[in-house]
Amino acid sequence: MVATYGIHWFRQDLRLQENPSLLSLSKKVDQIIPIYILDFNQRIGSTSKWWLEKSLISLYDSIKKHNGKLNIFAGDPEKIIFSILKNSNVKYVSWNRLYDPYSIKRDTKIKSIVTSSKIECDSHNGYLLNEPWNIKNKSGTFFKVFTPYWRHCDELLKLKNLKFKNTKISYANSKFKNEITIQDLNLTNKKEKWTKKIEKYWIPGESNAKLQLKKYISQKANNYSVGRDRPDKDLTSKLSPYLHFGEISALEVYDTVNIEKKIDPENKKKFLAELGWRDFSYNLLFHYPDMTHKPIQSKFNKFPWIKNAKNLSLWHNGKTGIPIVDAGMRQLYKTGWMHNRVRMIVGSFLTKNLLLHWKNGEEWFFDTLVDADVGSNSAGWQWISGCGADASPYFRIFNPILQGQKFDPDGDYVKEFVPELNNIPKKYIHNPWEMSMEDQKKYNFEIGTSYPAPIVDLKETRNRALSAFKTIS
Ligand SMILES: Cc1cc2nc3c(=O)[nH]c(=O)nc-3n(C[C@H](O)[C@H](O)[C@H](O)COP(=O)(O)OP(=O)(O)OC[C@H]3O[C@@H](n4cnc5c(N)ncnc54)[C@H](O)[C@@H]3O)c2cc1C
Repeated sequence: MVATYGIHWFRQDLRLQENPSLLSLSKKVDQIIPIYILDFNQRIGSTSKWWLEKSLISLYDSIKKHNGKLNIFAGDPEKIIFSILKNSNVKYVSWNRLYDPYSIKRDTKIKSIVTSSKIECDSHNGYLLNEPWNIKNKSGTFFKVFTPYWRHCDELLKLKNLKFKNTKISYANSKFKNEITIQDLNLTNKKEKWTKKIEKYWIPGESNAKLQLKKYISQKANNYSVGRDRPDKDLTSKLSPYLHFGEISALEVYDTVNIEKKIDPENKKKFLAELGWRDFSYNLLFHYPDMTHKPIQSKFNKFPWIKNAKNLSLWHNGKTGIPIVDAGMRQLYKTGWMHNRVRMIVGSFLTKNLLLHWKNGEEWFFDTLVDADVGSNSAGWQWISGCGADASPYFRIFNPILQGQKFDPDGDYVKEFVPELNNIPKKYIHNPWEMSMEDQKKYNFEIGTSYPAPIVDLKETRNRALSAFKTIS
């Protein structure tokens, strides 16, 4: 008998376990041909490229352990998939769905052409807890507010059987004319030194995703509710890049945390709801496909944003003279990640105190974050700048001094990333410009020399932002 083959197209599901497309395909075919295609039209940031390279190496090795081979390609997925179909005995093509407008359009077209060539084409949910089109409110439309959205989703999840049965999968060891190596993808430039810094903080790959979840449950989960707001303490899961690249599924994270008896109900509920924000972001993106570049609240199209390349560059480089903002921006550049509380602080400072367009922040984050994600990033920026659905109101302007004093009370976070402030007494760590000349001398510190003076006056710019908001409200 001739063996039957099925293609599994890996995208943001770089894992072998709890992978619905792989599981479904394994029931239909003798062997699975695993492929990865670097699609040049798909948006990807520099730091994500670093993660992707490591993740592909890890996936390649895992498939090799199963006597198979991950076939790597670069270019137009439609052409590449068809060139494989022409030259092999493939009966099925399958993948896990993505929800950004570009992927939806591309995948719909490929599915329709594959199907019309009499080859079965299947797609699955391997990325979200609930898919956007399945979640509707009582009036049959989609939710624009998080709390009722999540209440509804959580109820549905509690009713579902989330257990996956991993079966033995047989992978093909195929060779294709146009396949290339992971190195050929040129995802990283070995001469660039910044990747060395990021390497100290992260180990991409499926097995590390599982370890990260285990570590979260055993060491952090019972302090999450309060700890998640403290950038000076390492109390969040840091699962975001693993979830973004699909090295672990959101359903597995949800289910593992949900059934864990050692986590108390309050902390459990809070964590699961945060996971819900990830789904909510894709719920918004699905219904507002332009939200990566257009405000959901259209009145913000007329908002008087200003352009100031110098201030933007100082924000990028963590040299604004506002310690908690600079610490956040430097944490991002050094580690490829920033604490959620600080993402909100630097976002509010950029869009409200500096009055720079939220898209400036969205683009910088997208290029520098290890977890850069079309859905969560644009939703996060629209939320903090006040122009999204269920957003923080524009008039709520974070005071970075008070935020710092509340969430980094000893200044440990600031000191870790802004070492110029190491010797400053706790009282001034979030507002060093308020130190007297006498104190500056005493601590061998000079504002404007040892560390920049604030680039803007916080009170004045707060009032300016409120006046700007009045022009559109
Ligand atoms: C301006 C801005 C931009 C952001 N950009 C991104 C992004 O590009 N990619 C990204 O994954 N997250 C983004 N977030 C959300 C959040 O900051 C990160 O998901 C979180 O900091 C990741 O750390 P963690 O894994 O330790 O989170 P935990 O607190 O441990 O949360 C667990 C998981 O829940 C999800 N999650 C938590 N909070 C949020 C949230 N507010 N929105 C969406 N998902 C959430 C993440 O997948 C996270 O891994 C952004 C937030 C803001 C304010």
